[in-house]
Amino acid sequence: PTGDVLPAVIVGTGYGAAVTALRLGEAGVPTLMLEMGRLWDTPGEDGNVFCSMLRPDGRAMWLKNRTRAPLASLLWMDVINHDTERYPGVLDRVDHDGMSVYLGRGVGGGSLVNGAMAVVPKRSYFEEVLPSVDPDEMYGRYFPRATAALGVNHVDPEWFETCESYQYARLSREHAHRAGLTTTFVPSVYDFDYLRREEAGEVPRSALAGEVIYGNNHGKRSLDKTYLADALGTGNVTIRALHEVRAIRRDARGYALTVHRRDETGEVVERLEIATERLFLGAGSLGSTELLLRARDTGTLPELGPEIGQGWGPNGNVMVGRANHVWDSTGRTQSGMPALGIDAWDDPEHPVFAEIAPVPAGVELWLSLYLAITKNPERGHFSYDPATDTARLHWNAEQGKTSIQQAKALFDKINRANGTTYRTDLFGDTRAFENRFTYHPLGGLVLGAATDDWGRVRGYPGLYVTDGSLIPGSTGVNPFVTITALAERNVERILAEDWTTP
Ligand code: FAD
Repeated sequence: PTGDVLPAVIVGTGYGAAVTALRLGEAGVPTLMLEMGRLWDTPGEDGNVFCSMLRPDGRAMWLKNRTRAPLASLLWMDVINHDTERYPGVLDRVDHDGMSVYLGRGVGGGSLVNGAMAVVPKRSYFEEVLPSVDPDEMYGRYFPRATAALGVNHVDPEWFETCESYQYARLSREHAHRAGLTTTFVPSVYDFDYLRREEAGEVPRSALAGEVIYGNNHGKRSLDKTYLADALGTGNVTIRALHEVRAIRRDARGYALTVHRRDETGEVVERLEIATERLFLGAGSLGSTELLLRARDTGTLPELGPEIGQGWGPNGNVMVGRANHVWDSTGRTQSGMPALGIDAWDDPEHPVFAEIAPVPAGVELWLSLYLAITKNPERGHFSYDPATDTARLHWNAEQGKTSIQQAKALFDKINRANGTTYRTDLFGDTRAFENRFTYHPLGGLVLGAATDDWGRVRGYPGLYVTDGSLIPGSTGVNPFVTITALAERNVERILAEDWTTP
């Protein structure tokens, strides 16, 4: 009902949002979550909730007529992407000049589409990135709390050595070791025991059936199965899917939101107003930053400062493929969930953490793929464009150069040691290194700058940021565990301090 003022509203249902919902719910605070994407719980005509990467349909992408996968081509052929019906699908690709950002859309946010790699950042680098955050507290309390609640598990090292699912990873490991590099297992929120049973033919295949970026029908502990399920279980949390927050303004009682509701076809069918005493932004780096920039520049929250929209980075993402010798098979059956990384983060000149990525195409491609995370100090920023009513990202090719140099140093070494070359047929032209997209958008509302040290937006009591926009552009590893742990830390403080003072 529009007349009521709710105690708490959370925008989004990704990592930061889900943590906040659970802890508010446990504390007895009635909380409404608004998510612009669908609730992914109903099977389609094929009996599956999500479509696969090999046969994508409208469920794949957010309101697009064609899929836009990160690998654009194979042998320069346009065989990867497919025309689809326009539908509120689960993966979005938001194109800005010089940078495309991939995001999850739906109840669970990025957890629905991501590779499930659950990595705690190196402590020394975390201290560098967020110097105002007490690392003892993070590493003693909040990272363990986050990994437990996310259901992080580890691959059985014995099974890993003999399974078919990770032949591609063992080959990349051998090639890395030959170049004198170190590899490390990567924890996951995909159930490794389920994966083992997939390979044994005991259960329906998901990670082994080309399911990753358009959602997994089985095996993955996405947020709807962990934090969000627990939040709903408190009895105090409600989720409304297909509700997009468009505008935020101050009113006497707190904040008033303009919300657009879509139907299942993606059409906006209703505009509503929702008022709340406290508002938590968990719409992700792009989503939360856009909401506050729009509010500042259209004058609905005019006191917001110049820090809004600053400090953005792609976590140094670079994708690269290597061509293997014909005798070096990567295998036809590849787990869509990575389990191994090359850890060269301590290299003083070329710090890189590279996940060994699958190409779950179901055929032998003699291709080793990697998503490298590099240490790039460049930062982009957003500005509000009144003509389109959106936030535009300012990031250019020059700013991405350091990342390519770092990745190139590492993979040149691997190629030299193995007599191999780069694949130049993967990204729609002849480049070997693709850094014009990111899976890991971070920053825009940086902790200690746009907000105080706990995510309280400066100048606006009762307004908070809980998601990846707090982290200034880089974590050195895949980011969702950091986002989750930081949200745990912040909400604990906010519950303790802000609810007791009238
Ligand atoms: P998100 O998870 O992005 O959630 C934001 C939510 O808010 C979304 O559901 C969105 O639809 C919703 N929203 C946005 N705007 C509005 C609005 N105005 N109104 C209502 N709702 C709104 N990270 C890892 O750590 N490991 C991995 O293996 C990994 N692999 C990845 C693979 C892919 C393909 C992608 C895309 C990402 C991957 N990531 C990975 C990144 C990780 O998923 C993100 O860092 C993480 O999801 C960000 O969390 P968040 O809380 O900031 O927001």
